[in-house]
Amino acid sequence: MDFVDLKAQYHLLKHRIDARIQAVLDHGRFILGPEVAELEEKLAARIGAKYAIACASGTDALLLAMMALGIGPGDEVVTSPFTFFATGEMISLLGAVPVFADIDPVTWNIEPSAIEAVITPRTRAIMPVSLYGQCPDMDAVNAIAERHRLAVIEDAAQSFGGLYKGRHSGSLSTIGCTSFFPSKPLGCYGDGGACFTSDDTLATALRQLHNHGQDRRYHHTRIGINGRLDTLQAAILLAKLEAFDDELIARSEAADRYSTLLQDVLQPPRLLPGYTSAWAQYTIEVDHRDAVQDSMQKAGIPTAVHYPVPLHLQPVYASLGLKQGSFPHAERAGERVLSLPMHPYLTPQAIEEVVAALRQALAS
Ligand SMILES: *Cc1c(COP(=O)(O)O)cnc(C)c1O
Repeated sequence: MDFVDLKAQYHLLKHRIDARIQAVLDHGRFILGPEVAELEEKLAARIGAKYAIACASGTDALLLAMMALGIGPGDEVVTSPFTFFATGEMISLLGAVPVFADIDPVTWNIEPSAIEAVITPRTRAIMPVSLYGQCPDMDAVNAIAERHRLAVIEDAAQSFGGLYKGRHSGSLSTIGCTSFFPSKPLGCYGDGGACFTSDDTLATALRQLHNHGQDRRYHHTRIGINGRLDTLQAAILLAKLEAFDDELIARSEAADRYSTLLQDVLQPPRLLPGYTSAWAQYTIEVDHRDAVQDSMQKAGIPTAVHYPVPLHLQPVYASLGLKQGSFPHAERAGERVLSLPMHPYLTPQAIEEVVAALRQALAS
C-alpha cells in the first residue's frame, strides 16, 4: 500500500496529462509559457483572489511573499511552532526572526489568543499555517493583524481546496501561499507553488521578484530570485485541476470512512463548524506513537509523522533559547500525531485494512 498513490491518479488522468505535456514539448516555451498564465488565471478565479503568481515551490512562495512585504533583518514574524520546517526557515533566511505562538490542541493550528502576547514593536507579519488541510481561525488572526497593522501570510501549502466560512484557503490574507509538491492535495510532478493576493502593488512585486526582479526583460528594478514555475509543471497542474473537485470529495469521503471506523477507539480529527479540509493528511493522536507506527509498518501499512520535532526544538533554532516546555501543545502533538494513508484513490477496502492494522497496534 502507498501512503500517497500518485500512480493511481496518473493512470486515471493519463490522457489529459500526456496531452498537456505533449503540447508543451511541441511549442517549446518551457519558461513562462502560455500554460503558466492559463494556470494563474484559473487558480485565481477558483479561489477568488485577484492575482495568482505561480512559482517554483511552496517554500519560494513563502520567501517571495515576505520579500514583497519588505520583511528583513530586525523584523519578527509570528508563526506556529508545529509546521513543516520551511515556514520558519524562510523567515530566518531573510534575516528576520520567527516568533512562535502555541497551537490549539484540537486543530493543531496556531491559537489566535496566543498571538497577541508575543507581538512586539518589531513584529511585521503573522504567518498562520493551515495544517493537514484545515485553516486556522483566520477571522481572529486577521482581526489581531488589523489591530496591530500587521500583514498576514497564509501558509496554505497543505490546504489548497479547503474552505473557511465559504471562502477559499489562499484568499484569506494579505498574501496566501501554497505548494504543488507531488503529495500535496493539488500536486505537480516536481516542485511548484503559488502566491495569491488581491493587492495590485504586492502582485506587481511578486511577479517581478520571482523573475530576477525584472520589470521587463534585462531591466532589473529589485533583487529577486529565479522562482518561476516550469511550463511543464503548469501543464500537469492544468490537467489535474480538472479532476480536483472530484478528488476533494473523494478525500473527504475517505476521511469520513476512517472517522466512522475509528471513533470508538480514538478521537478522529475534528473540523470546526464552517470549515472544510483539503485533507492533505488524515492525522490522529495516539499514545506510544512510535510503537504503533512500528506495528503498522510490520503489517505493511505505511504511516507518517507530520512533524516529530516542533520548530523551536530544532537544532538550528537552539540560538532562540526556547527550551522544552515553551510550547506544550506543539510538543505534545509532536510526540503523538500519526498520519494514515490518504489520497483520493484510497479504496474502502484499503481503509479497512489500515483500520484493522491500527486497531491491532492499539490493542497490543
Ligand atoms: C509542503 C510545505 C511547505 C513547503 O512547500 P514546498 O513546495 O515543498 O517547498 C511549506 N509549508 C508547509 C506547511 C508545507 O506543508
